[in-house]
Amino acid sequence: YHAKQQGNRYLFFNDAMNHQAVKRLQIENLMRFGLKRDHFEVFYQPKMDIATGQLAGMEALVRFITPKKGLISPGQFIPIAEETGQIIEIGEVVLKKACRDVKRWRDAELFSGRVAVNLSAKQFALPDLTDRIDTLLQQYHLPASALELEITEGTVMDSPEQAIAIMHALVGKGIHLAMDDFGTGYSSLAYLKRFPLHTLKIDRAFIVDMVNERGKNMVDSIITIAQNLGLHVVAEGVEEAKQLQQLKQLGCETMQGYYYAKPLSAEQFEAFLLRERSKTQDQHHLSLVQ
Ligand code: C2E
Ligand code: MG
Ligand code: MG
Ligand code: MG
Repeated sequence: YHAKQQGNRYLFFNDAMNHQAVKRLQIENLMRFGLKRDHFEVFYQPKMDIATGQLAGMEALVRFITPKKGLISPGQFIPIAEETGQIIEIGEVVLKKACRDVKRWRDAELFSGRVAVNLSAKQFALPDLTDRIDTLLQQYHLPASALELEITEGTVMDSPEQAIAIMHALVGKGIHLAMDDFGTGYSSLAYLKRFPLHTLKIDRAFIVDMVNERGKNMVDSIITIAQNLGLHVVAEGVEEAKQLQQLKQLGCETMQGYYYAKPLSAEQFEAFLLRERSKTQDQHHLSLVQ
């Protein structure tokens, strides 16, 4: 019995492994094909100024839309794309489409802020990263001030000294840098002080945790640290009025989350910008929270 059970376990384990490997390979192939067939789209999620209720910016989020399997979420394909290196090509597509869309919205005077694009560790490590970004900005006739890059603690903490140099090169061009998912990685406060960042994005996990006192104190402390370092603070994953109320109380400036808007297709985002513009023209500057 024991042996058989072991045997079964072995088989089960093996099947699960095979299943995972097959799925991985499947996604890798879908991505290769999808890159050729233009199956990667960019959606945009608004970031809102909590005090004024006005649009503060937006984040570009990749969407992989396959004809056969429909939408494959970033959580499913980004880690695999990171491993295979396909993230470099996918990231390039995202940067291009984000520049193209933002150029159109700026020309139409619908938007004058920045588009934030997530940059993977592999992209960040490219020796010609700043040249690539320069080329893109020139190609789309955009100033560097139209672009913000979101990087994670993991990206910069592998070799922080080198990362600081790369960050300075980007910031020197006029690009803004945001630390994404802050608090979930392992960056030290000593480095946080030295990173030339503009923005700190508090991870959604901390926002969810504001239901209890300790969680709320935690967010309070993060906001205080950020503000003492002269950083702008964005709360990620805000889903409830209560959270927004608490964030406003704690002095958080910007929110992003389903409570206000989900990531929108370029077409939907354009409609959103048009609505925002008529709101502004009507002089109805309402705060998101009273
Ligand atoms: P992220 O950069 O932290 O992006 C925020 C994620 O939270 C997005 O998930 C967004 O849709 C989701 N989100 C926003 N508001 C809410 C909310 O109120 N509640 C909840 N539950 N979720 C919310 P998404 O689009 O699935 O992307 C997941 C992650 O995949 C991103 O996390 C980012 O790390 C990565 N990613 C997305 N697009 C790109 C890209 O173009 N390049 C790279 N390298 N990574 C990307
Ligand atoms: Mg992000
Ligand atoms: Mg994030
Ligand atoms: Mg996150």
